[in-house]
Amino acid sequence: MSDNKSNNTTETSLMSRIVSLCKRRGFIYPASEIYGGLNGFWDFGPLGTQLKNNLRDAWWKSMVECPPIGPDGKPLSIVGIDTSIIQHPKTWEASGHVGGFSDPMQTCRVCKKLFRADHIEDMLREAPWVIDLAETLVVSAYDLNVTVCTDKVINWLQRKGKKLAPGLAALKEQKPEFNKSITFLELLNALAYKTTPHSTLHTPHSLLPCPNCGGDLTEPRQFNLMFESRVGPVEDDSGKVYLRPETAQGIFLQYKNVLDTSRVKPPFGVAQVGKSFRNEVTPRNFVFRTREFEQMEMEFFVPPEDGMKWYEFWVQERLRWWEEQGVAKNKLYRHEIADEDRAFYSAATADIEYLYPFTDPNFGELEGVAYRTDYDLTQHQKFSGVNLEYIDQETKNRYIPHVIEPASGLTRGVLVLLCEGYRYDEQRASPEWLKIKPSLAPIKAGIFPLVNKDGMPEVAEKLYMDLRKSMICQFDAKQSIGKRYARMDEAGTPFCVTIDGDTLKDSTVTIRNRDTAQQERVSIDTVKEYLNVKCKM
Ligand code: ATP
Repeated sequence: MSDNKSNNTTETSLMSRIVSLCKRRGFIYPASEIYGGLNGFWDFGPLGTQLKNNLRDAWWKSMVECPPIGPDGKPLSIVGIDTSIIQHPKTWEASGHVGGFSDPMQTCRVCKKLFRADHIEDMLREAPWVIDLAETLVVSAYDLNVTVCTDKVINWLQRKGKKLAPGLAALKEQKPEFNKSITFLELLNALAYKTTPHSTLHTPHSLLPCPNCGGDLTEPRQFNLMFESRVGPVEDDSGKVYLRPETAQGIFLQYKNVLDTSRVKPPFGVAQVGKSFRNEVTPRNFVFRTREFEQMEMEFFVPPEDGMKWYEFWVQERLRWWEEQGVAKNKLYRHEIADEDRAFYSAATADIEYLYPFTDPNFGELEGVAYRTDYDLTQHQKFSGVNLEYIDQETKNRYIPHVIEPASGLTRGVLVLLCEGYRYDEQRASPEWLKIKPSLAPIKAGIFPLVNKDGMPEVAEKLYMDLRKSMICQFDAKQSIGKRYARMDEAGTPFCVTIDGDTLKDSTVTIRNRDTAQQERVSIDTVKEYLNVKCKM
C-alpha cells in the first residue's frame, strides 16, 4: 500500500491531517493566529510560499513565456501584465459586480450565523450535529419506510453512515422496497422533534436547517461580495472604491493599451496573476474558499466567429496542464455548465473540477473556462465612452473581440497539489509524505552527512555550497538519518543526498528517491547534473 492513501483514513480526518501537516511543516498557517485568527484568511509559510510561487511560475511559463501551440499549429501569442487591485469604481458597475456580484445568504434565527444558501446542503453533510445523528437518521429512515432521495444524500449516508450506522446496509439492500421518496430536508424535519435541541426545525418550509445548530434560517437575501474601501482623505462616498473580486477586469481595462503597445492582434491573450478579494459569506474548507486569495487568469481575445473553437481548445489545454502538474486524470472532471446556470452573457462555460477530500464523492471547482463573448469590452466601451474595437489592418474589419477566459485559483491550486500529493503509509519511517512533482517541490534536495563527524560534514557542506547556487536545497547534519529523510518526505522533497563512509574512499554518494524510498549510488561529481535534470521534471 506504499503509494496509496490509507483506507482506514476517513475523508474528514484525511483533510484534518493535511491541514495539520501544513501547519506543522510551514506550508499554511491561520492568519493573525496570535490574535485568535481571522475567518477566511490564511498565511503561507516558507514551504507553502515556495510551492505557491512554483505553481504560479509553471502557469506563467505555460501561458506567457512558452505559450501552447494553437489548433492551427502556430504558437499562441500571450503577454503578461500586472494591474492594480483598486480600479476606478465604474469598472465594477460596467462589469456588473456592483449590481450583481452577490450570493444569496441566509441567517440562522437561533445562533445568528450567516450561510451562503447554496452551501447549506453541503455544510449540513459535514455538520457535527448531523453526523451525530447519522445512526438515528438511517435507522429512522428505515423505520419510516422511506428512502432519502437525492444522490448527494445517499452518498453522504454511505460515506458517513457506514461506521456510525449499522442500519445502513439494510437501507441500501432494501431500497427497492421503500415506497416513498423524501428529501433530506423532509427526513430531518420528520425527525426534528426528537433529534435537535431546537423545536423550530419541524416548521414546514423549503429551507434547510442551520448547519451550525439546526435552527431555522431566514429566507435567502442577496449579499454583495466586494470589499469596500475609500481613497483619499475625505470620509464620504465620493472616494468609495472596491478591492477587486477578480483580476480579469484589470486586463479588460488595459486591453487597448496592450494592443497599441505590443505587437499582438487577435487571436492573442493577456495573462495576469494576483490577489483578489471576496467577502465570502461562508469561507471554509481550508484555503478552498477564502476571503483573500490569488488567481491566475488569462483573457484570450479572438475574432467573434472563432469563439467556440478557442473555447474548446482552452478547456482541453487547461485539463492537460493540470495533469502535467501531477494531478491524476481521474481526479479531474469537466463540468459543462448548463445554459440555465451560466452567466447570461456567456456562450459556454466549463468548470474544471477536482475530487477534493471534502467534496468526495463529488467534485469541486478548481478553474473556470468561460466563453464571455464580447460582454466585458462592450460594457467598458459603453461605460467609459472609449472605442474598444479592433481594426484589422488588412481587411479593415472592425469588431469587438470575443473572449475566452481560463480563470484559475492559485491558492486553490496549491490546495489541490497538497491533497493530491498527500500520502499515508505506515511502513515508512514517517508515514506522512507528500508526492509533489520535483519541479514544483519547494525544496529540491536534502544534503546529509550520514554522521556529524569523520570528515563527512565537510564533504556534505562543500556539495551543498555548490548546489545551492542553482536550486533550493537544505543541509542538515542533526538527528538520525531516518528522521532527516522523514522530514524531507513531509516537505515533499524529491531527493536526499547522503555522504557516508564510502564517499571518503571512492567519492560516491547515495541519492534517495522520495517516492520509492530507494537509494542509488552515484559519483559525487554527477550529483548536480542529476538533480538539475530530474528537478526540471
Ligand atoms: P464559486 O462558485 O466557487 O464561488 P466562482 O465560480 O465564482 O467560484 P470564479 O469567479 O470563476 O469562481 O473564479 C475563478 C477561480 O478563482 C475559481 O475557479 C477558484 O479557483 C478561484 N476562487 C474563486 N473564489 C475563491 C475563493 N473565495 N477562495 C479561493 N479561491 C477562489
